[in-house]
Amino acid sequence: MELPEPTTVAFKVDVDTFVGTRDGIPKLLNTLQRFGIRATFYFSLGPDNSGKAIRRIVKKGFLSKMLRTRAPSMYGVRTMLYGTLLPAPQIGARLPDVIRSVRQAGHEVGIHCWDHVKWHDYLGRFTKQAVAGELNRSAGMFEKIFGFPAKTTAAPGWTVTADSLEIQDSMRLAYSSDSRGTAPFFPVMDGRRFTTLQIPSTWPTMDELLGENGITLDTINDQYLAFLKPGLNVHTIHAELEGNALNSTFVDLLTRLTSRNVRFITLAEAADEFAANAPACSLKMGTIEGRAMPVALQG
Ligand SMILES: [Zn+2]
Repeated sequence: MELPEPTTVAFKVDVDTFVGTRDGIPKLLNTLQRFGIRATFYFSLGPDNSGKAIRRIVKKGFLSKMLRTRAPSMYGVRTMLYGTLLPAPQIGARLPDVIRSVRQAGHEVGIHCWDHVKWHDYLGRFTKQAVAGELNRSAGMFEKIFGFPAKTTAAPGWTVTADSLEIQDSMRLAYSSDSRGTAPFFPVMDGRRFTTLQIPSTWPTMDELLGENGITLDTINDQYLAFLKPGLNVHTIHAELEGNALNSTFVDLLTRLTSRNVRFITLAEAADEFAANAPACSLKMGTIEGRAMPVALQG
């Protein structure tokens, strides 16, 4: 008789900004420690050019999303000006101790990016050399901070190209987490099969769900519990949100998940468990509800 598959949750923590690194990380470490949960953190290691994301206002859909999620009140006014009226602070160079504290607290660590805004807005127009430059700078800063090379990456905004997957293949990673989908897989993009395992995020983020179909902070965790399925669930959270204005809602989610006998693992542990049976699946950029820019979708 086959035993029922345990319900497993892995938290992927994206850290996008200087303030999210400085203030959001300590708060999230505290929250996760209270529940005895280990997560996988992905760091932005170069300049915080968040102010330039204002350029996206002119692109379809972004303004309404920004107003809906009240980005200025969630991210803070300074962050909205970094890289424009205020100089872009160098995150890895200025906050190495905060970044190191994540590993010291027992969590897994990986590369999110060098320049989040640049990758997210322009990856499709980068030369292969420019993609390699972003990943090399990130890898150099990661190794300088931790003293060992990164074993995992997660692309900003789930934005990939065949070039970025090819360069990640050359980095000897254990896996990457760049996509949205249902279960771990080996990506096939533009007719090429890549060798780095993809562990997709399986749940929508809080900022995608809020405001859709009348979902509010009071009902959003009912929605997350409804997403919970046997096998691996991967939830992406942000140091800027769950480590700041949305922290109490996240604490409520953890309280409800722990009361349901959910097993928590890191993405590295998920890679170990699920790689052997991972199929090859297509990976394409496409749109999803609640997000203005396209994301990499498992086919
Ligand atoms: Zn991000």
